[in-house]
Amino acid sequence: MKKATRKRVARTTGAKATPKTTPKSAPRSAPKSYPPVPAEGPLIGAHMSVAGGPVTGIERALAVRARALQIFTKNANQWKGKPISDEEATAFRAAWTASGLAPVVAHDSYLINLASPVGSLREQSVEALADELLRCEVLGIAFLVAHPGAHVGSGVLEGCDRAAESIDEARALAPAASVILLLETVAGQGTTLGRKFEELARMRSGVARRDLVQFCFDTCHVHAAGYDLTTDQGYEETFREFDAILGLESLRVFHVNDSKNERGSHVDRHEHIGKGKIGVEAFARLMRDPRFAAVPKLLETPKGADGVVMDRRNLALLRRLAEEPQGGSDKRRRGVQ
Ligand code: FE
Ligand code: FE
Ligand code: ZN
Repeated sequence: MKKATRKRVARTTGAKATPKTTPKSAPRSAPKSYPPVPAEGPLIGAHMSVAGGPVTGIERALAVRARALQIFTKNANQWKGKPISDEEATAFRAAWTASGLAPVVAHDSYLINLASPVGSLREQSVEALADELLRCEVLGIAFLVAHPGAHVGSGVLEGCDRAAESIDEARALAPAASVILLLETVAGQGTTLGRKFEELARMRSGVARRDLVQFCFDTCHVHAAGYDLTTDQGYEETFREFDAILGLESLRVFHVNDSKNERGSHVDRHEHIGKGKIGVEAFARLMRDPRFAAVPKLLETPKGADGVVMDRRNLALLRRLAEEPQGGSDKRRRGVQ
């Protein structure tokens, strides 16, 4: 799939492109084994696999009592996804409604590089992003999280402007899509763009439909990129900067991941909440921050062997942190139980 000779893929979804053929195994209908999620409590959840069809993502979210969900709408390591059939889309929407899950967001493919200086790769990325937008539209998903891309030596500003151009081109290919693109903060490995809030601002300022470009804040990435979330002062300063440069109202999704690596390492390795270099205090601050009460917070932490235990544990911790009375973190700091 990494060979440059690979044929470019055509669009695979969209109202007119929806295939008429029924898949061999009928898509599964609404999940049966789990009760709907409670309407109360913090808006937390996790990224879930959709192996077996989009509807299985809903089932997996319910299995850990999540209230929010992120999925890939196709294999994230492939350019081309199996088209989403009408039946699959209907089953997904029905299961979603029945589930009580509030926000469901999608994440785009890892292969896409909107900032690529290589024309053919950029073109392929634009087509793939258009396809991702249409797949979201078909499933009724309002937000698509996207990595801004890498400039591959061509320069930060040029890369940002190229990414903005690519977003516009993808929008032109997918004019029906009203899906909001959430550019994700990145750790800054290699020449990846989005390690600084200013870079994300530059991208947004370059697109025609600024209202359709907002942001996803990944705690692991922001920490690895060099921002401080570990102290009261650092936390406030980081969000003050975000607000000044991007606007807090455009922060629509959090990825809540602790980091295996130090602040400023530019290495993107997720760790369980409270077990990494960010530490539990930062997540306590975030969970209790009234500015973000309505913003979904999604885990992308390692799943472990059975796929549910670690998510349940991390979600339980986040819930506890959210409910902890003010000053709870001070007690924890002093070692008081
Ligand atoms: Fe991501
Ligand atoms: Fe992330
Ligand atoms: Zn990451």
